[in-house]
Amino acid sequence: MADKITIALKRGASCVGCDIAIVNFNEELFTLLSIADVVFAPTLLDVKYEDIKKMPDKSITIGFYHGAVRNSDNEEMARVMRDKCQILIAYGACAHMGGIPGLANVTTKKAILEKVYKTTFTTINPDGNVPLEKFKDKDGHELTLPFFFEDVMALDDVVDVDYYVPACPPTHDMNMTILNVVKDFVEKGTPLPPKGTVIASEKTLCDECERQREPQMSVDRFVRIHEKEFDPDKCFMDQGLICLGPATRAGCGAVCTGVGMPCRGCMGPTAAVTEQGASMLSAIASVYNVVENENELPEQAIEKLMSQIMDPLGCFYRFSLPKSQLGRVVKDV
Ligand code: SF4
Ligand code: SF4
Ligand code: SF4
Repeated sequence: MADKITIALKRGASCVGCDIAIVNFNEELFTLLSIADVVFAPTLLDVKYEDIKKMPDKSITIGFYHGAVRNSDNEEMARVMRDKCQILIAYGACAHMGGIPGLANVTTKKAILEKVYKTTFTTINPDGNVPLEKFKDKDGHELTLPFFFEDVMALDDVVDVDYYVPACPPTHDMNMTILNVVKDFVEKGTPLPPKGTVIASEKTLCDECERQREPQMSVDRFVRIHEKEFDPDKCFMDQGLICLGPATRAGCGAVCTGVGMPCRGCMGPTAAVTEQGASMLSAIASVYNVVENENELPEQAIEKLMSQIMDPLGCFYRFSLPKSQLGRVVKDV
């Protein structure tokens, strides 16, 4: 058997769901550990930043970074991971596209600090203090906190990334795909996929969803999930519920639509499109015949249709705002 490879795991601005997803290797974790030693993983092992910083550059075979880049600590450790790892993988929707934390780009750092530390009804803060990045106590000891960035970024906004594993979080089957790619590379010398590959399908989620679609859809209004009972065998879009399947990459096994929830797009767009939200808007326009009937539909009818979509930005860019053309929505001037 070939020598073992080494693996590092590091999280940035993350809900830790991706750590759980890694544990979701289940018994296959032993297969992983038979070919790889985990040399740095603060969530799993008692390690310190200095441990990885002391390692020679490129001494770790594969690094998995999950979570977005939200503050200076996230950025520093993303750069350390890039320096120390031969292959760096953006693992999960947050590292891939900014993910849910990226929705903070609809507001500003100032507004977030004001809200969290001053105006939330659970906060008692009569002096209106907000965290300082540097503070000196009366004895002259300086304390520092990571710098909270104005923007949330994806991993490849700050370092070069070799591969992407999408989803929030990646599924067990997706982990198995990575494991098999790594295993074949270690044991048989099988070449790795081209740099930049998103390790998932090239199809859309609708291609792997088992719900039946009508050839021609027609709904008079969009509904929300709690507003009615849905036929478990029929496409959600046919039933007036927005489902991001047409604009989303397949590979998760359509796990949400299989259990009665519409797709929210966490796998990101397919390679054919860069702008997931715009792609979904155009899918809606075509399936509901807004485009074909545009000349006949009064402007108010189109506006009425769109006004029924609650929180369009959160709906269409829930996981991908930082990587979209919009990038962010408001900025302090
Ligand atoms: S991709 Fe999802 S599960 Fe993973 S860190 Fe981000 S929010 Fe959490
Ligand atoms: S739109 Fe959603 S429910 Fe309909 S086929 Fe596509 S993934 Fe399935
Ligand atoms: S069905 Fe959609 S939201 Fe659910 S895991 Fe798959 S891509 Fe993500």
